[in-house]
Amino acid sequence: MSKHFYRYQMEQPVKVQPASVPAVDGLRTGRDYLQSLNDGRQVFLDGELVKDVTKHPALSRAADSIAHLFDLAAEPSLRDRMTFASPKTGQPVLRAYQIPETAQDLKARRLFSEVWAEATFGLMGRTPDHVAGFFCGFAAAPEVFAAGGAQFAKNVVDFYEKMRDNHLYASYAIVPPQIDRSKPAHKQADPTLYAGIVAEKDSGIILKGAQQLATGGLYSDYIYLSCIHPLQPGDENYANGVVIPANAPGLKLYPRRPFGAVASNSFDYPLSGRFDELDCFVVLDNVFVPWEQVFIHRNTNVCRDQWWKTPAHAYGNCQAQTRYAVKLRFMIGLAKRINELSGNDSNPAVQVQMGELASLVSIIENMLLAQEAVAAKDSDGVLWPSKTALYSVMALQSELNSRMLEIIRELSGAAMITLPSSAADFDNPDMMADINRYMQSGSSDAKTRIAVMRMAWDFIGSEFGSRQQQYEKFYGGASFLVKHNMYRNFDFAGATSLVDRALKLPAF
Ligand SMILES: Cc1cc2nc3c(=O)[nH]c(=O)nc-3n(C[C@H](O)[C@H](O)[C@H](O)COP(=O)(O)OP(=O)(O)OC[C@H]3O[C@@H](n4cnc5c(N)ncnc54)[C@H](O)[C@@H]3O)c2cc1C
Repeated sequence: MSKHFYRYQMEQPVKVQPASVPAVDGLRTGRDYLQSLNDGRQVFLDGELVKDVTKHPALSRAADSIAHLFDLAAEPSLRDRMTFASPKTGQPVLRAYQIPETAQDLKARRLFSEVWAEATFGLMGRTPDHVAGFFCGFAAAPEVFAAGGAQFAKNVVDFYEKMRDNHLYASYAIVPPQIDRSKPAHKQADPTLYAGIVAEKDSGIILKGAQQLATGGLYSDYIYLSCIHPLQPGDENYANGVVIPANAPGLKLYPRRPFGAVASNSFDYPLSGRFDELDCFVVLDNVFVPWEQVFIHRNTNVCRDQWWKTPAHAYGNCQAQTRYAVKLRFMIGLAKRINELSGNDSNPAVQVQMGELASLVSIIENMLLAQEAVAAKDSDGVLWPSKTALYSVMALQSELNSRMLEIIRELSGAAMITLPSSAADFDNPDMMADINRYMQSGSSDAKTRIAVMRMAWDFIGSEFGSRQQQYEKFYGGASFLVKHNMYRNFDFAGATSLVDRALKLPAF
């Protein structure tokens, strides 16, 4: 049997070319990406307009982490794994933009996303491959958009090709702000609270209002603005699907409190300091959107159907699950290290708890494979990952993730707390003597033990860790909505037919 339990884990870290070396074949490098971010986008933080996100101390390191993803994708030794030939230009383009026709293609998309997820330990959810999946799904079923007018189908396909052929990064904001959820969009106290159309011109539309919550918005090239919440008759102004450049005049991004801001050094904040993708509240202050960037125009049916009658939601969330499975591998690795350091690893009771954790991780990993194994083509020849394999995990993710974190908290006792205050303590010889003597573990020196526990705390207990948990609960929508998805997609007729057959068994 293979020693590699994780079938798809990269066996060695990939050395990427330095960011200063231009990529061959026109692929976008980390350097290209970072340079493109200084484009006048309006990001408001701590009472100020940020001049350049790549230079801001609270924002720059996450930008660097994303730049590293572009470098990985441009790495010549990973060319086949990370790229495919653009059907239009023949040039290599990111596999995240490959519209899958076979289960092999779906697997290739997953292998691409695994490389990126491993580079961030699954801690950045909205890397460019997430919304790329949605655009693939839209372009695979343009007839859904054509229901609103033939030009919208053309716009969606043209834009998908532009994203694909230029290695672009989109984030999205597809949920209305939580102002008053008891009323539909058009009955809010002011009709321009939710992002909607306020004027139309021959050349395009003008949007005003707010939308939540573009994770990574300040790091992306474009924001897709639409609505996944159910809309009602009367809500037509809010039933749109448009792409907006991150530096469009009038587009304002309000990131939440950045955790990178407190991350003073990489020892104390090994994860917050590197992987804090910012969630951005989006405000549109009379933003002009040319018609070419409009996919859905005042159409509540198309606005709904884009998610469920195209494979967009499935492709995008397939990536989310790939990323999640990598994160869980990292999580269970941390748990194992905690037990080894505490000397509890061989305790049978601890092994039972680790067995439960491993079971939950394995369910999620194997359901990822099931999405490919049970993928099916629809009547238009579009390949969909198995929706039941996808939505069953997503529907329970809120509970399962919490349970897994609870097990780790249980196993670690005070291990993540009984630690010195900061890396600066290592510079004080008096303190260091106590730290070395009393904070060591039976199997490692104090500094190694503290480094693992700091990482575990940043994963689970820091502000960054806490936001991670909220992310896993809500990134795919509130769990009651995902359970509805599951309800819509489950084969209840097959189940009840079994019951009917049992009722008709010959009497005895
Ligand atoms: C960290 C993070 C990152 C995110 N990133 C993005 C992103 O990049 N892009 C994006 O568009 N969205 C993103 N989201 C998701 C999105 O913004 C919402 O959080 C998500 O869709 C849930 O909607 P809501 O927050 O408005 O919660 P609500 O819909 O208001 O629901 C909150 C809670 O109210 C209760 N509730 C409300 N209505 C019902 C009902 N009918 N039946 C039963 N219970 C009900 C449930 O307990 C529910 O969990 C992100 C969310 C988080 C937390």
